[in-house]
Amino acid sequence: MTRVLVVEDDPQLVRALVINMRARRYGVDAAPDGATALELAATRRPDVVMLDLGLPDMDGVEVIRALRGWTRVPILVLSARQASEEKVAALDAGADDYITKPFSMDELLARLRAAVRRTEDLALVPEATLVETEGFTVDLSAKKVVRDGGDVRLTPTEWHLLEILITNPGRLITQKQLLQEVWGVTQANKSNYLRVYMAQLRRKLESDPAHPRYLITEPGMGYRFEG
Ligand code: CA
Repeated sequence: MTRVLVVEDDPQLVRALVINMRARRYGVDAAPDGATALELAATRRPDVVMLDLGLPDMDGVEVIRALRGWTRVPILVLSARQASEEKVAALDAGADDYITKPFSMDELLARLRAAVRRTEDLALVPEATLVETEGFTVDLSAKKVVRDGGDVRLTPTEWHLLEILITNPGRLITQKQLLQEVWGVTQANKSNYLRVYMAQLRRKLESDPAHPRYLITEPGMGYRFEG
């Protein structure tokens, strides 16, 4: 099943898109803002991203740049903005196609089919999903981490945490988001889980785990990956 991630803050439009795409047997996830979109892109691995540029928490162009840090997933931009410089900015950041609101559902579905065909072409070439730092390299497809020429063994939980952080470079991921995503809980009192696992990850990845360079704590808030 082709999975589409719809990133749009207008609930009526989301509902219309979801109904139409599910009727055509697409799997659909929806994110109302950029932060949720980046999390879902990392965890759900959609085949196509449909992205509104005007989001409540960040500009859609920023979402495109963050995605392009690690994935070639086709991005179809939906926007009410007519200005050509907006389109140029979105395309320059790595969007594949652009559709201006209001659009007809038929046109949107045709663009979606075209984006899916591009995915099929891309599937012939292995995706470069390498995130490289000076200290270590992460291969998101192979789920492998290499440090100093050797494989680093991570537990599934450590991997899940690392994956969320590195696919959101430079972005604060809150304790609540990480707990929800990795353990399916939101209780703030479970933040000791996070401390334990982050300490383990740092021991495995940081040359000076007490003074991390890549896996940064934002005290009282959450964590951030600096590449
Ligand atoms: Ca919007």
